[in-house]
Amino acid sequence: MNENMLKHDWTKEELLAIYNRPLMQLVFDAATVHRQWQKPDEVQISTLLSVKTGGCPEDCSYCGQAARYHTDIKVQALLPTETVLAHAQKAKDAGSSRFCMAAAWREVRDNRDFDRIIDMVKGVNEMGLEVCCTLGMLTESQAQRLQEAGLYAYNHNLDTSEEFYDEIISTRKFDNRLETIKHVRKAGITVCSGGIIGLGETIDDRVSMLRSLANMEKHPESVPINALARVAGTPLADLPRIDIWEMVRTIATARIVMPASMVRLSAGRIEMSEVEQAWCFMAGANSIFTGERQTLLVTPNPGVSEDMQMLKNLGLKAMVLEKKEACAN
Ligand code: SF4
Repeated sequence: MNENMLKHDWTKEELLAIYNRPLMQLVFDAATVHRQWQKPDEVQISTLLSVKTGGCPEDCSYCGQAARYHTDIKVQALLPTETVLAHAQKAKDAGSSRFCMAAAWREVRDNRDFDRIIDMVKGVNEMGLEVCCTLGMLTESQAQRLQEAGLYAYNHNLDTSEEFYDEIISTRKFDNRLETIKHVRKAGITVCSGGIIGLGETIDDRVSMLRSLANMEKHPESVPINALARVAGTPLADLPRIDIWEMVRTIATARIVMPASMVRLSAGRIEMSEVEQAWCFMAGANSIFTGERQTLLVTPNPGVSEDMQMLKNLGLKAMVLEKKEACAN
């Protein structure tokens, strides 16, 4: 299996046909692809830390960190570098191979906070972890600076389909997302981009979002599939929980159309039983976020010991990075 075998011209009809296959057939097909392209007994453990929380000027209607919604989330300024590095070390000691730092910003500004992020990236990279950031929109030169500091991946989710985007966010456009992803690629940083399901979107929207990802010139190396984490005080707080089979179908479709990518079972895991998560792994998910704080950014998430026990129960193991060297500048 190699990159030349990947397809980048999926039609909407092809994706819909995959998504709507009889469930057992779909999971079997996705599991087969998973076994051809990935190590099926390995799950990457990633730790996500909110390094700057809340007070965001954007209006993403699912997000408790948007300043305009009245949520219980406490605003927290950028954490000191030493604090972040101590969290990264703990994450590594607990079995994580990837450490993601998130800041609730609309975009990166060229100021002292960005200088501090650069120091954090250097420090985490030196620990031999894959270091990832999600900081909002980036210019080409900012992406370049992050790459030079050793950034391995940048997360910038498409969130939902281009067609549904304006229903969920009005303070930026779908094209802004693509633009930042372009800057990340150009700088030579790997791309982490996926979306959220359960926002009130249609199946067509889900498929359209996956198609946007799968038809990129290079597939994102990492594709997080989130179930909406309903945060009280946000416009989407009262939506029903997404059906687990919709989650399984979305993961399976992502696995089939982007076989070489890591498919990350991300937000919403706290509401899933071990059996439901097992279905997601069977459908091709091979990464989870965990952490000592038992939160995923600002929403509840299973803790690391619970997750390790689950992996053991399912005969899975934490992926170990093969000779991860600190990224050279
Ligand atoms: S998702 Fe990100 S950009 Fe949107 S409101 Fe939340 S922190 Fe801001």
